[in-house]
Amino acid sequence: MANKRDIIIIGGGLAGLTAALRLANNNCKVCLIEKNEYPHHKVCGEYVSNEVLPYLNSLGVDPFSVGAKKISKFEITDVKGFPLKASLSLGGFGISRYAFDNLFFELLRHKAEIIFDTVEKVTFEENHFSVTTQRKDVLYADFVIGAFGKRSNLDSFLNRRFMKKNAPWLAVKAHYEYGFPDDTVALHNFNGGYCGLSKTETNAVNACYLATFKSFKKQGAIDAFQKKELSKNPYLNHFFNEAKPIFKKPLTISQISFHQKEPVENHIFMLGDSAGLIHPLCGNGMAMAIRSAQIFSEMFFEAFQKSSFDRIKLEETYAAHWRGEFAERLKTGRFIQQILLNPFASKVGFSIAKIVPSVLPKLIERTHGSPMK
Ligand SMILES: Cc1cc2nc3c(=O)[nH]c(=O)nc-3n(C[C@H](O)[C@H](O)[C@H](O)COP(=O)(O)OP(=O)(O)OC[C@H]3O[C@@H](n4cnc5c(N)ncnc54)[C@H](O)[C@@H]3O)c2cc1C
Repeated sequence: MANKRDIIIIGGGLAGLTAALRLANNNCKVCLIEKNEYPHHKVCGEYVSNEVLPYLNSLGVDPFSVGAKKISKFEITDVKGFPLKASLSLGGFGISRYAFDNLFFELLRHKAEIIFDTVEKVTFEENHFSVTTQRKDVLYADFVIGAFGKRSNLDSFLNRRFMKKNAPWLAVKAHYEYGFPDDTVALHNFNGGYCGLSKTETNAVNACYLATFKSFKKQGAIDAFQKKELSKNPYLNHFFNEAKPIFKKPLTISQISFHQKEPVENHIFMLGDSAGLIHPLCGNGMAMAIRSAQIFSEMFFEAFQKSSFDRIKLEETYAAHWRGEFAERLKTGRFIQQILLNPFASKVGFSIAKIVPSVLPKLIERTHGSPMK
């Protein structure tokens, strides 16, 4: 069959890039299809948990080579600016998605085929896939990996269940010049959402917030929302008054959904946000994207070493492994988000965490994994 690859990966965010790099390193004929050229900015908090470092090292990806900031402290404030502080046992680093995704791309471009196009259709028939792009190219593969992020045209095409449910969240992100410690990631609450601050490799501070559409709608525009709602928190008030924007205008995304998804659909192995999105306040979505790519790749190699290969068994094993690894983290993320966004529960939560300081680090631990071997 012409145009046949071993594996087609749809989406070149961290999940797709990690899987592509690992599979290509093991001589798989991989084709990655991504709709945007690199480098590009993305709406993201840009704090990455250190749990990914051993795996990144094994792939030859070094975030510190481009100046990523080492982060070891966490600070959280309630809507009125009452602060709690904790040290991060595992820690993390601050790097823009512009630089981070591009590090992977620069390594991958010499090892795998990369096509810049939007996938419109994926069909599975007689044990193989055909993938059609916007430019009407049709490619074939034995396996397809879905790494197309939290919400894609392909979710509609595949008629995924979560697309029928409400998605009442939006997010805004921009880089600023502002005096902020290199070693800290902060999470400041406001009515209807929360805003993360951390430094990136360029010394710019990334400010990224998630808000309910309902709370945003009252102000209707980003400037007004920041001035009237976010600035009720004194930390955010100081930030938005003093910080100098670097972007011409902030990046925005809407219709963010945290509903449950399936890790395998229509025989497509879903990685990263395509399989499930953790609440951003956990600061662990990128590590989960990288970890899901690791889980898939190692399982894939193992399955191929056996003399008889069973596709359905591989799908079941991946789904079970994915749930075993991430279901609890997603549940804890949902729980923390519910507490933070409920004024009464949040007040009680902050009071408890003040009296029992070990609560905060324990909660952080429950949303993170251990270092990836
Ligand atoms: C507000 C907010 C803040 C966050 N902050 C953090 C944080 O601080 N730390 C953290 O670890 N995580 C954070 N996350 C989560 C993190 O951004 C995601 O978990 C992570 O980006 C997932 O990577 P991914 O590869 O699955 O998806 P993505 O990075 O979204 O990549 C998906 C890719 O697929 C491409 N694509 C989509 N459809 C198609 C198509 N049809 N054809 C071709 N290409 C396609 C897109 O262009 C995109 O590049 C945050 C999320 C949000 C919403």
